[in-house]
Amino acid sequence: MFNTTKALVLRQVRYKEADRILTLFTESEGKLTARARGALRKNSKLAAATQQLCYAEMTLFGNRGRWTVNEASVVEPFLPLQSDIASFSLGCYFAECLEAFSVEEQADPALLQLGLNSLYGLGSPRFDPLLVKAAFELRLMCLSGYAPSVDACAVCGKETPQEPCLSIENGCVFCRDCRRTDMGQSQYLGEDALAALRYIVSAPPRQLLSFSLEGEGRTRLGEAAERYLLAHAERKFSTLEYWKSVR
Ligand SMILES: [Zn+2]
Repeated sequence: MFNTTKALVLRQVRYKEADRILTLFTESEGKLTARARGALRKNSKLAAATQQLCYAEMTLFGNRGRWTVNEASVVEPFLPLQSDIASFSLGCYFAECLEAFSVEEQADPALLQLGLNSLYGLGSPRFDPLLVKAAFELRLMCLSGYAPSVDACAVCGKETPQEPCLSIENGCVFCRDCRRTDMGQSQYLGEDALAALRYIVSAPPRQLLSFSLEGEGRTRLGEAAERYLLAHAERKFSTLEYWKSVR
């Protein structure tokens, strides 16, 4: 069975002499594993389009659950990421998150779009990488069923919580003075980071990155987003550790 689809290369590992085993996020089938035979050979037509973080049009051949890449041509290579180690490693973290939160062979256009928009944002000088990261992490949580409830303090119901905090475990916001022990671990947001969090949760997909935040609010939002994702992923991300070592 042949299937032509666009696909984002989430991960690639060398296999045998010159093959690549790819983890792909495809438009039509969602996440799947495919083998690109001879992709590492000199002059291979598959070489460019099967690199990590490349978005490509691929013709895949599927046989009893095994996929092989027959043809591949680059759609969007995200070139700015390929030439900057910090951006590239952050992009690889996005890819590892997409892999962790997607379901095998189940199309998920919203998740793919989030990944592509975020990689584009990372490569563009118009956007602050730390805010792109926070927006990606929080929106990924929303798409994965962990949308935080941000409209009002979960305890007193005030729509403008005083000194707002985010409960990392419960995904609710609350006034600092309303804290209860069952809130578990929390992150202080402040009004500016709460406003950004509210924007990220509800913005139209294409405008996800159209917000700004500076100073300590920016740092607090970044902390909240990362902690929130890690708490729900219940695992570590080696790419995140690597990004922290090279940023
Ligand atoms: Zn309150």
